Amino acid sequence: MAAFGSVFMPKMALATFDNNQWSESQIVSSDSIQLHPGAHVLHYSSTCFEGLKAFRHEDGSVHVFRMDQNIKRLAQSSRLLGLPELNEEQVAQMIKDIVAEFAADVPAPPGSMYIRPTHFGTEPAVGKAAAPSVTSMLYILLSPVGDYFAGGARALRLLLDESGMRCAPHMGMIKSGGNYASALQPTLKAKAEFQADQVLFCPKGDVTETGAANFLLVDGNEIITKKLDSSFLHGVTRSSILTLAADLGMTVTERDFTVSELLERAAKPGVEAMLSGTAAVLTSVGTLIHEGKDYSVGNGEIGPMATKLRAALNDIQWGKAEDKHNWLTKIA
Ligand SMILES: *Cc1c(COP(=O)(O)O)cnc(C)c1O
Repeated sequence: MAAFGSVFMPKMALATFDNNQWSESQIVSSDSIQLHPGAHVLHYSSTCFEGLKAFRHEDGSVHVFRMDQNIKRLAQSSRLLGLPELNEEQVAQMIKDIVAEFAADVPAPPGSMYIRPTHFGTEPAVGKAAAPSVTSMLYILLSPVGDYFAGGARALRLLLDESGMRCAPHMGMIKSGGNYASALQPTLKAKAEFQADQVLFCPKGDVTETGAANFLLVDGNEIITKKLDSSFLHGVTRSSILTLAADLGMTVTERDFTVSELLERAAKPGVEAMLSGTAAVLTSVGTLIHEGKDYSVGNGEIGPMATKLRAALNDIQWGKAEDKHNWLTKIA
């Protein structure tokens, strides 16, 4: 099985912004773009992206999950990066068009079609370090993906990092390339030194998120996660899981919490920690590494609540449970 996100459909939907307007969108070859070497994105990282999925149901129909939320977030990222304002209806149509084009290639569960909208500044202008690009390119790239846990699921090891941060705090809620570049070295170091899978960034003790996933804690009937602010990415999976937890009768608490509270709670039996994101949905965290020491979360294994909440979300995505919140858009 190819690594997640390394296989692409041969065509994508593409539109460009030039002369103050968006072009008509087109379906073009996935390897057809041209960029000037002076393009703004290549020098000043004026780029943002999204990740969402289309799912095949048992009757053969194809549905995209929470497309409106991802488009809204892409529009917000674009705005905060000074990129041309998106036409959200056009983006929705581009997603529908390209998914419809490859509807027959959408893998059946547990696979799906990963959708990667990308928007970046194309103006050839290396003098614009402190000015926005007035032209841009937007495309919707597709990647069929299999079972994320094909190699077998296991509980993750997270290094708690209290000294660094994932990215500049005012960039946190922008899904932008530079933020991942910024988190890469701390993550590689944590892997090499502590065999950690990810770094949980906790600047000055404030528990935020990892390089590409939100962090949630389950203690008895309560699910706890950091309340939304501009310092971290507002995950669609995070919000979906909180909604499903409330549907299951759990108490949903969105508030700030510290590393010391996290370590104290994690030591209690039955407590679970998890990471949420579109790629893996929900993954159990078994171990927290703090100041060189390992701390098990609950029994250190995959937890029953993570499994239950993930199944509740998957059941909606796969058409096995009622889509009460209208999260699916039927494409084909
Ligand atoms: C994409 C991402 C998430 C998860 O967002 P989803 O909408 O749930 O996929 C969380 N944190 C970061 C930093 C991300 O890039």
